[in-house]
Amino acid sequence: MENKSEDNDIQFLIENGFEKKKCIKCGALFWTKDKYRNTCGEAPCDPYSFLNNPPTKRKYTLEEMREEFLSFFESRNHKRIKRYPIVARWREDVFLVNASIYDFQPHVTSGKVPPPGNPLVISQPCIRTVDLDNVGKTGRHLSVFEMGGAKSFNFPNQFVYWKDDAVRLAIEFLNHLGVETKDITFKDKPWYGGGNAGSAVEVMVAGLEVATLVFMDMIQDPDGPYEFEGVKYKKMENKIVDTGYGIERFTWLSQGTTTIYDAIYPDLTKMLMEEVGLSKPEFLVKFMELSILEDGSEKKFLESLSKEDREVMEKLSAIYMLVDHTRAITFLVYDGLVPSNSKAGYVLRMLIRRALMAMDKVGIKEKLWDLIEIQKERFKDILDLSMERSAREIIELEEERFRDLLLKGDQLILKYAKKGVLTQEAINTLFQSNGLPIEYTIERARQLGIKLPDKVEKAKGFVNVREPAQKKEKPKIVNKYNPTKKSYYEDERKLEFKGNVLGAEGNYLILDETYFYPEGGGQPSDHGYIVLNGNKYEVRDVQLVDDVVVHILDKEIQANKGDIILGHIDEERRIRLMQHHSGTHILLSSIRYVLGNHVWQAGAQKDPYLSRLDITHYKDINAEEIKQIERRANEVIQMNLRLRKEFVERNQAEQKYGFILYQGGIPEGKQLRLVEIPGVDVEGCGGTHVDRTGDVGLIKIIKIEKIQDGIYRFHFKAGRSAVEHYQEIMEKISKIENLMGEDPEKTFIELNSELDSLKKSISKGIEVYEAQGIKFYKLHERIADEFSRGIKDPLAVIVSAEKVRVVSNSNINAGEIMRALEKEGIAKGGGSQSYAQGKILKENFDLKQIADVINDNR
Ligand SMILES: [Zn+2]
Ligand SMILES: [Zn+2]
Repeated sequence: MENKSEDNDIQFLIENGFEKKKCIKCGALFWTKDKYRNTCGEAPCDPYSFLNNPPTKRKYTLEEMREEFLSFFESRNHKRIKRYPIVARWREDVFLVNASIYDFQPHVTSGKVPPPGNPLVISQPCIRTVDLDNVGKTGRHLSVFEMGGAKSFNFPNQFVYWKDDAVRLAIEFLNHLGVETKDITFKDKPWYGGGNAGSAVEVMVAGLEVATLVFMDMIQDPDGPYEFEGVKYKKMENKIVDTGYGIERFTWLSQGTTTIYDAIYPDLTKMLMEEVGLSKPEFLVKFMELSILEDGSEKKFLESLSKEDREVMEKLSAIYMLVDHTRAITFLVYDGLVPSNSKAGYVLRMLIRRALMAMDKVGIKEKLWDLIEIQKERFKDILDLSMERSAREIIELEEERFRDLLLKGDQLILKYAKKGVLTQEAINTLFQSNGLPIEYTIERARQLGIKLPDKVEKAKGFVNVREPAQKKEKPKIVNKYNPTKKSYYEDERKLEFKGNVLGAEGNYLILDETYFYPEGGGQPSDHGYIVLNGNKYEVRDVQLVDDVVVHILDKEIQANKGDIILGHIDEERRIRLMQHHSGTHILLSSIRYVLGNHVWQAGAQKDPYLSRLDITHYKDINAEEIKQIERRANEVIQMNLRLRKEFVERNQAEQKYGFILYQGGIPEGKQLRLVEIPGVDVEGCGGTHVDRTGDVGLIKIIKIEKIQDGIYRFHFKAGRSAVEHYQEIMEKISKIENLMGEDPEKTFIELNSELDSLKKSISKGIEVYEAQGIKFYKLHERIADEFSRGIKDPLAVIVSAEKVRVVSNSNINAGEIMRALEKEGIAKGGGSQSYAQGKILKENFDLKQIADVINDNR
């Protein structure tokens, strides 16, 4: 195939009798072979004409259409690729897959990684959250849709195919289904997105857009000659054909049912409608016609209906939403997504809650899981069934949580409604802090007779953009160097080496090869020293700048190209880091083993002494689970498995292991370094690792904290650091034993109960009186002295069985009072201005007597 067309005119269409025209209704440019046609072929310019009148040879189910599409392109030399998850694990910029090209961005489209097939074909489930509000209402919007993608990647040294063949294949596929060429129109459209741009044609049949053929050949450039919406682009070397065929739309086209949902989910829709005694209203067709013609016209139509008819329509709409949302939930939960209050997990939580609300609205008795299971059974060929256990528990728990929330819902709404009015702010708080969906709040508030703002604003929706990870500032090197040979991958045990200097800049040193590990993948750099001409320089840090390893020294170094240095790596630090890094892989696999396959690494930081690992999970982790995880991790250590570390071809590794490889981030390049613990774990990882799991020695979980909704942080120690941890604990215990005897626990319990009874006797045993401006305390002998010391009253008398004490915090002299008491024969003793005490002489003295003596003497 050769590359003929460079401009926006598509040679193939011209040569095959297509004419370029301008739509008399919307003004868009389009290609057609039908000389009588003067509209672009898309609704509303051309209303849907396939309803009850499909243009295909036969009807297809969704599964049949998917297979028809894939095998058609396969027969045209495209390699069939397994679908990717909707959760975009391999992307650092987005959370969820919006289009099939996402699978191949950024590294394939940029040319850094070869495509897994060229050309290739895939049916990729995608989600566009902006459409969710319309699901069930318009008859054509979907929660998740399968985008059939036939792609070709043309690189400067490899041409596959470009516009002409893409258009030819689209026509051939439609002909293959029975659609005549004269009924196809191609609508011209500029295209841009994700930093790229190009041109595109939309493929229209019977009013329905069934595919878009994108020809991507530009890249963003501030000085570029092309401009779309104020952003400039230039031509790029790589030209990519990115086609998207709506598999559900083709299914719908072939069936001509009233709505797309009836085409995709005929059985489930029927089952639910029967359950609630609903039959399809006749006016539905009219409604559908209107809803595709003009925005809002269907609303007017609905308002013209009787109350009963409108209710039927609302229920039907809820059922359509339910059958469609449950498929999306099934895909997301089987892709290992965990519901949460933020990020992608938020989309799943909202879908679940909306589905539950729809079930309540129409009175469906099943549990949500029952419907998910039906969807799972249907789509099991393209789901990861190892998620089953997690998926079920997640759905059941979310349903339970939401039911609990709704039980409290009315109370919450009433609490936030001030004087019978619920403000926008209160509605937002109910949503953000309490998780009460806004639609629900509105509905319940109306039923409770609470006033609402005229127009309630929707919550700020999900934004499919990840915050860029904070990158550490890299050292700035001035000169150009060849990539450093990373010898630490060849021998992780070699800690002394001779290296050739490539250059030195201040305290930066660059060698031709190195055994010093540069910081990366959550693993800090090696430390150590280098020796040059008898001088020793500490290596404080090692950083990778592009492909060059920069050794950062404690002081400036004078070195010339070709000088030989001796490198020495700090063994203690390296071993501890290796134990923690291999330990991280072992711990993660153990957490998955115990908690389920939905667990995904959400971050990790290795450290020689205390490392951390963040994981996704949907509920608090209990003590028994922690024990099981720790036991499993140490069992893996005891199995003493040999780690396999090798560079492999990236596409093969992805197809073999899936995206579970990218737990620790997404490396670039054609080659991927795999670190595999056979039968336990496999990850793409550039860190340094021990040779056998036994070398990790020991893993001890120190603590677990919930750092975000749906994310838990494990703090743990491995190897030498774990041993030291036990030693410290044992030291503490032996100190305690020295203090508390052989059974500190027993001693502690005894002491504690003694303390308790003492506290009780104190609080019970102190009697307090106030008479004639004097505070009297009667209490137990054992605590009376101690108690007297803390008294703040101006004048107090503390009486125990044997003694009387006088405390003065005023100008009254306590000693003089004691002498007066002695004169009266009440007590015998002495003291100073602020404190005096004496032995009680009279057996039956009363407090009034003392008070009288004091008042006579002050
Ligand atoms: Zn038009
Ligand atoms: Zn790793």
